[in-house]
Amino acid sequence: MEEQSKVRAMYAETVPYLLHWYEFNRRILPWREDPTPYHVWVSEIMLQQTRVEAVKGYYDRFLTCLPDVKALADAKEEELLKLWEGLGYYNRVRNMQKAAKELVERYNGQMPADYEAIRALPGIGDYTAGAISSIAFGLPYPAVDGNVLRVMSRITGSEEDIAKESTKKKMKEDLTVVMPTRAGDFNQSLMELGATVCLPNGKPLCEQCPVMHLCKAFHTGRETELPVKSGKKAGRIEKRVVFLVKCGEKILLHRRGQKGLLAGLWEFPNVPANQSVSVKRVAAMLAEELTADVPEGEKRGKTEADRNGMPMVKKGKKAKHIFSHVEWHMEGITIETEEAEVGMPGRLLAQVQRLTEGAAEEDWVFVTAEQMRETYAIPSAFDAYVKEVGKIQEQEENAE
Ligand code: SF4
Repeated sequence: MEEQSKVRAMYAETVPYLLHWYEFNRRILPWREDPTPYHVWVSEIMLQQTRVEAVKGYYDRFLTCLPDVKALADAKEEELLKLWEGLGYYNRVRNMQKAAKELVERYNGQMPADYEAIRALPGIGDYTAGAISSIAFGLPYPAVDGNVLRVMSRITGSEEDIAKESTKKKMKEDLTVVMPTRAGDFNQSLMELGATVCLPNGKPLCEQCPVMHLCKAFHTGRETELPVKSGKKAGRIEKRVVFLVKCGEKILLHRRGQKGLLAGLWEFPNVPANQSVSVKRVAAMLAEELTADVPEGEKRGKTEADRNGMPMVKKGKKAKHIFSHVEWHMEGITIETEEAEVGMPGRLLAQVQRLTEGAAEEDWVFVTAEQMRETYAIPSAFDAYVKEVGKIQEQEENAE
């Protein structure tokens, strides 16, 4: 108990210094200029996924297309996913839309000025509820994220493991007790200090810190040792074969099922690799099947010059993508043919569908590279293959 009072007293002591520092050192960011509940909400969800600089573009685009809660509630799923493309964690934006629908139904499209009501919305946890409540409504709730955990652990010299939920809970309770009237500014000053001065990797910039004189980590030379954070378990590795199927100018895309990883997003068809599905085996098999009705003597080699209109099947790019619990190690297989060949799109589609164990008819499309970029939300896991399509297109244009 005595320890808890000491911690709370230390937290309280930082408040005036941090508020003063924030006033003169805060970065000018689009969502800070007009911190409506909707703006804070959109920015906070985006900031959980990527760096401030990268968020700016996404944020502007999102608000231009969906300027308020009602527009978000009414947005088509394709538009929503396209606006989120590249940010990852697509369930977050889906939850935002669920929450927006609830806000339209129950609160006339407005975010209620009530922490508990905000916290009860889909996809909104303690942190986001605290940020919206304090920044947009000035309510006295903390918003404890990784930055705040790091800064406060260093200031108090805490050796509690910040990966533990109990550490976060305790910090939240202790900060609630010391929240000043300018709750939003105080929360943002902690986040800002963590993002610009009390940096996570390597040595923090203590000589620029407004609370250096109060900081236990600084006085004991432990600023790079703290906070304590137990390691995350390494993700499982999954090998996959990715099909880049190009028929004339069109590329084959597949929409994933509505459940599980990357649910409902478009992708290049892909399957787990194993002994029977390896790039080598599949390439050989496809080449064989796609040219099955071509007389033996006319089957050609693998180069562009050789193949004379026959489908070309070759090994494609290797790529890696790390999700939170699994790592995809992908190996591409590129299948190219001329559209002019009668029935080829259908035949190619049938072969790839068979290998990937099919899906409903409407979940497969042949699209141009331009349509792919503009209309279809393809997760960043496939960035290497999107680039590959661009490269093939460029080579073709140069050859013309
Ligand atoms: Fe972080 Fe250094 Fe400031 Fe302590 S003095 S809070 S370690 S930047």
